[in-house]
Amino acid sequence: MKIICVGRNYAKHAKELNNPIPKEPVIFLKPETAIPLKNHPFFYPEFSKDIHYEAEVVIRIKKVGKHIQKEFANKYYDELSLGIDFTARDIQEECKEKGLPWEKAKAFDGSAAVGKFLPKTEFKELNNLSFSLNINGEKKQEGNTSDMIFDIDSIIAYVSSFITLKIGDLIFTGTPAGVGPIAIGDNFEGYLENKKVLEISVR
Ligand code: MG
Repeated sequence: MKIICVGRNYAKHAKELNNPIPKEPVIFLKPETAIPLKNHPFFYPEFSKDIHYEAEVVIRIKKVGKHIQKEFANKYYDELSLGIDFTARDIQEECKEKGLPWEKAKAFDGSAAVGKFLPKTEFKELNNLSFSLNINGEKKQEGNTSDMIFDIDSIIAYVSSFITLKIGDLIFTGTPAGVGPIAIGDNFEGYLENKKVLEISVR
């Protein structure tokens, strides 16, 4: 099982980090060990002083596929959730400056929090789905999949042209604007539309 993440998939978020708007999806991977153990908190890692939250819609692959055409991509997933792509922003900046890969900043243990999966049939339109993240009861980040630069089906088609997708693989589809630092003691709640699917705290 692998976790594929899309970076810079919302124009306003690309801008807030001074990144160009990409012409094709920016992708990177996290290992299975990035998913926090069930009911465990997110443990603030010692190697960073600037961990950020990035709330993202996550889809789960249900069928093996390679070179999937966009028009058939919707047959490869039927559940989605909200996840947090925890990012060591200080380490990522160092990596970017040096032109190095981002794994140290993105793929560490616990960096891929993901909520309960719901069937996609529970939502009217996946390309017009609102989602949000509360921290300590206050709304800190909200987005809508209609603002994605590359929609879910385009991402599946693109990723599968390089990497075979297998059952259970997760795709983090990118974060909207409004990312920010986390602190020990924070409590996160994630919503797809008005359905609460994620809850995790920081220790
Ligand atoms: Mg992200």
